[in-house]
Amino acid sequence: MNILAVGAHPDDIEIFCGGTLAKCAARGDKIFCCTATNGNIGSATLPKDEIAAIRKKEAAKAASLVGAEYICLDFDDELFYEDVNARIKFINMVRHCQPDVILTHNPHDYNPDHELTSKIINDIEVMLPIAKIETEEPPCPKMPVIYYFETEKGLGFIPTDYVDITDHFETKKQMVLCHESQKQWMADNYAGFSVDDTFIEDMVITSQYRGMQCGVKYAEAFIRCNDAYRVTPYRMLP
Ligand SMILES: [Zn+2]
Repeated sequence: MNILAVGAHPDDIEIFCGGTLAKCAARGDKIFCCTATNGNIGSATLPKDEIAAIRKKEAAKAASLVGAEYICLDFDDELFYEDVNARIKFINMVRHCQPDVILTHNPHDYNPDHELTSKIINDIEVMLPIAKIETEEPPCPKMPVIYYFETEKGLGFIPTDYVDITDHFETKKQMVLCHESQKQWMADNYAGFSVDDTFIEDMVITSQYRGMQCGVKYAEAFIRCNDAYRVTPYRMLP
C-alpha cells in the first residue's frame, strides 16, 4: 500500500505514528510524510526562515529512516488558515502520493494547526478522484481511508485500532530524536518537559500506555474515520 502521514508540524508524525510507518515500511509499503507547516516559529533565537530550514531538514532526515519521501507544504506555523490555495495544495500533495491510507491528526486536538490539517484532509477526501478539480498531479483512482492518530498526551482519545510497534520502537525513537532543534524549545514552552528528558519521555509513556491497552510492550493508537465526522455513505476499507 501507499501510506501517507500528514502532520501539522515537523515532529508530529514521528511522535504520533512513527512506529506504524516503520512497521509499514518494513513490510514493503511506500511511505510519504507531509507537514502542512514548516515550523518557522520553533525557536526563540533564530530567524523564522532559518529555523524553518533546520526543521525541514530534521523532518526529511526522520522520514529517510523509514525510506519515506518528505513533503512540506510550507504554511506558516500557527498562522495557518484555510483558503482555496491551501485546499488545492493539499489535494495536489495527496494526489502526488496516491495513498491507500492517510494517517492524520484527530479533528479535536490541542492545537489549531493540528485541527485544521485534519479538517482539510477530511474535506478533500471526496475531491481527490474528481477530474474537474484540476491540479498538477492527476486525480486519485479512489478515495483513501483516513485514520486519526493520537492527540497530544492522548487526551480525549478513545482508539478503535492499535498497531503493535514493539519491534519498531527503536526506529520511532530515532525518528523523534532527529528533531534536535526542538529539545530546548519544548522544555521552555511546555509544562512537563525538561531538556534532559526531551519530548522522548512523553512518547515513551504514551507508547507503553497504548501497548498496555492492547497487550503488547509498545503500541500506537488510531481512530478510524467514520460517520462521526461527516456522513459519508461510500467510504470503504482497503
Ligand atoms: Zn504539532
